[in-house]
Amino acid sequence: MDLQEWAKENIEFVGNSNTNKSSRQGRIPEIIVDHISEGTMSSMISWFTSQDNKVSSAHFGVSKAGKIYQFVAIEDCAWANGLTSGIENATAELVLKKGKSENPNWYSVSIEHEGVWAETKGVLTPEQLKATKMLHKYIIEYVKDKYGHKIEPSRETIIGHSEIDKTQRPNCWGTVPVSGDNRLFN
Ligand SMILES: [Zn+2]
Repeated sequence: MDLQEWAKENIEFVGNSNTNKSSRQGRIPEIIVDHISEGTMSSMISWFTSQDNKVSSAHFGVSKAGKIYQFVAIEDCAWANGLTSGIENATAELVLKKGKSENPNWYSVSIEHEGVWAETKGVLTPEQLKATKMLHKYIIEYVKDKYGHKIEPSRETIIGHSEIDKTQRPNCWGTVPVSGDNRLFN
């Protein structure tokens, strides 16, 4: 399937002027970071478009029903994986290699998934899994077209938030990130 056509039909842009974003500072997307939202899809949408939110955002959100929402353009930096300290504790190799001076938001694309870790441990509904797999493919193609950089899908390039920030976000995506059992890229 043509992924551009798929995106037109399946991704709804809902970000607004309140949605937090900033410049990538010249960096290009090199990793995809998966998250669990700890709430419902409607609470995610209202929080990422709220004027009261001065702290966070993500590029995409995937609902349990498999609907995909976009809040921030891939060209922009979303506020999902920032760290003020503790990057030396990251378990993702690429993040460790880049080190303290590189904000992970500058070189990542972030996907939130509707769900509550205590209830699901990060396991997605079948509809959600299908949608996010397509979304990962779309992001990879988009980045290749836009920046000429191929994100080779692997455990190093598709990671859970906890692999960047295991201290403050130990459960974000799940105890075993979904990428860990290859579900997203086989
Ligand atoms: Zn997270």
